[in-house]
Amino acid sequence: MDLSELKKRLAGRRIFHAYIVTGGGAASRLETGRLIAAAAVCSGTGQAPCGVCRDCVKARKGVHPDIQTVEKTGREHTVDTMRDVRSRAVIVPNEAARSVFILADADDMNPQAQNAMLKVFEEPPPHAVFVLLAANPMRLLETVRSRCETATLPPETAAGTLSAPAEELLRALISGDRIGLVRAVGAVDKLGRNELPGFLDEVRLGALRDAGRLPGERLEKLLQALDQADKMAAVNVSAVHIATMLLAETAQ
Ligand SMILES: [Zn+2]
Repeated sequence: MDLSELKKRLAGRRIFHAYIVTGGGAASRLETGRLIAAAAVCSGTGQAPCGVCRDCVKARKGVHPDIQTVEKTGREHTVDTMRDVRSRAVIVPNEAARSVFILADADDMNPQAQNAMLKVFEEPPPHAVFVLLAANPMRLLETVRSRCETATLPPETAAGTLSAPAEELLRALISGDRIGLVRAVGAVDKLGRNELPGFLDEVRLGALRDAGRLPGERLEKLLQALDQADKMAAVNVSAVHIATMLLAETAQ
């Protein structure tokens, strides 16, 4: 499935027990993994992730106790790491209804490690969700792949560059420059309705790319406002209204 189909399923709270996230770049795969995790732990109502419940807020800050990211310790994920994940996965979550394990570089699991995970994919604990981030999913065993839903992200634009309107809007939002924003909104307004979700994804990626230049609180506000913008775009709110909301929400 593509990113918009994934978001639609998550929004409808159709959460699967195992995902492979591929395509895009490392940053967009991680961001998508975190989106799945937030939707899985969200305790709010309506579309998931709601963005405002206690679980969504903790997920966004990267401090949710039921979302664990598993990084490889050496060149590959070993069977010991995966056995450890397996035993943690059977433990009942602390706060949320689900516990989520994001496996970074999942395609660097060696075959024994994958076989260790296979057992848990075959009979997953009812509350556990696994998200495998994989640049090259063909390195995963067919038996692993067949038990996961695969989300394929659009290819990353060259060297992290954004389209001109996305770059312009991001600059205006970061600086709070109203004149720049008016100009950016004019460009955004020319986009077709079906281009808007992809455009917002681009701005989100840009915000993460520039995360180091933004205080954490402002980045958080911007990402929350972009989530809100996604929801508005889904119900056909005009680009002008969305951009105005973005400015209001991110104003310093
Ligand atoms: Zn929520």
